[in-house]
Amino acid sequence: ESVIVAIDGPSGTGKSSTSKAVAAKLGLSYLDTGAQYRAITWWMLSNGIDVDDAAAVADASGKPVILSGTDPSHPTITVDGVDASGPIRTQEVTSAVSAVSAVPEVRSRITELQRSIAASAPLGIVVEGRDIGTTVLPDADLKIFLTASAEARAARRAGELKGADVAATREALVRRDAADSSRKTSPLAKADDAVEVDTTDLTLQQVVECVVTLVDE
Ligand code: C5P
Repeated sequence: ESVIVAIDGPSGTGKSSTSKAVAAKLGLSYLDTGAQYRAITWWMLSNGIDVDDAAAVADASGKPVILSGTDPSHPTITVDGVDASGPIRTQEVTSAVSAVSAVPEVRSRITELQRSIAASAPLGIVVEGRDIGTTVLPDADLKIFLTASAEARAARRAGELKGADVAATREALVRRDAADSSRKTSPLAKADDAVEVDTTDLTLQQVVECVVTLVDE
């Protein structure tokens, strides 16, 4: 019996760390859907597509071949056969990803990919993103919505970026979440049947234990 876990929430709430740890603990596959949106964004930028031109982005959206490796201890992402795991984390991609992922043709293409990956995971999968519980996998066995204060999220992200300015990081996070929450097609949102977990004052280990307990129930 395969189990599907959807973990959504804004940036910096610990989605990736939590999702990978839960998947590893339960022997499930893992999919980072943000990495897929970053990968298509990287391809657009590399191919000279104006990311603010929604029609151009829509036209090109079917071109790149995006493959995700779903081992939680070694997740991978390639675009046209090239390892994209480094380039998708650059500031340039982070600043452009909300515009690209707001284009409906991009979303329908990536959503289809996500559903086929989830359907072929042998024991089940933990899928993290923004619209997994609401749109991609509405029949997931467990839906989690992670939140945290903007201060905590910015502090975590600035820590990952080593030496980044917390105030500037906070501003960029808040701006990206506002864009992701206000787009018309499958915005960042909590599903009605999702369990909300506020991670502001919890350690990663506590969040993981909480989610694993909910899966086992
Ligand atoms: O999770 P991460 O911060 O890497 O996501 C990058 C961006 O990808 C988000 O800011 C959002 O614009 C987009 N995204 C999305 N839907 C998802 C996952 C990510 O639109 N399910």
